[in-house]
Amino acid sequence: MSRQPEVCEIILNRDNYFSLEANRHYMSVSQFKSFVPAYGGCEARSVAELAGDYTRPDKGAFNEGHYIHAWNSNELAEFKENNPDIYSSRGDTKGQLKSNYKHLNKMIEVLEDDPLVMQVLAGHKEVILTAELFGIPWKVMLDSYQPEIGDTGAFADLKALKDMKKSYSEHHQNYVPFYQKYGYDLQMAIYAEVERIVKKREHWIIPHLVVVTKQDPPDHEIIMFDYDMIMSELQFVKNHIERVVAVKTGRETPLRCGHNDCDYCRLTKKAVIKHYKEFDVY
Ligand SMILES: [Zn+2]
Repeated sequence: MSRQPEVCEIILNRDNYFSLEANRHYMSVSQFKSFVPAYGGCEARSVAELAGDYTRPDKGAFNEGHYIHAWNSNELAEFKENNPDIYSSRGDTKGQLKSNYKHLNKMIEVLEDDPLVMQVLAGHKEVILTAELFGIPWKVMLDSYQPEIGDTGAFADLKALKDMKKSYSEHHQNYVPFYQKYGYDLQMAIYAEVERIVKKREHWIIPHLVVVTKQDPPDHEIIMFDYDMIMSELQFVKNHIERVVAVKTGRETPLRCGHNDCDYCRLTKKAVIKHYKEFDVY
């Protein structure tokens, strides 16, 4: 039972960018990662999601990310109006922002108080671009886009993270920097390449990551990437895209990742009898 992605063109806007229809037609960085085991992806889960048969459990952090992004695109007032659940509805704090959102305000203040951050985040906000890359259509959304700045042009992506510690990567069998663990380097490379194709440039514009942490007080960094990184990450995508497309379009059967930290594989699991010593390794 395979469902082909929609063949018709979809004109993307900010209302339909994250829709199922858009995800069926376009590849995105997060969708690509959701198929690739190196990024904790699971083919079976991704196919079920694209078919509309499965929705991931809400992790709560989703709305927090939107809050910070609404600030960056100057739409925080509108966001607050449309999301009354971010306000406390009972007790002494009734009518005030919930404590996690108060802390987000603190994170936003840290960014606002740093002139270089504000320079890097300036420009056009939430710019959607689409281009054909590795034979399939991709969609990207640039948080901040300054195509004319400096010699090369630049764009920036804003991330609110728990912290910037190194963490263990099963795939690398080693500790890796946070940006590598979450594939932000891959994201920056695809964004730069899509922009280059759309604008018919010879060179890439320079990707920046603005990170603010949820620590109290928050830490923050501005990280820039270079062409070596872009080339090696594009090569990684090239190496994996054939399998991803074959599974997405139903030409290949999706594999279950079977990992304990995959919500889909836990939900759809059928147990087999295991010898007790199999658990000794955990
Ligand atoms: Zn899985």
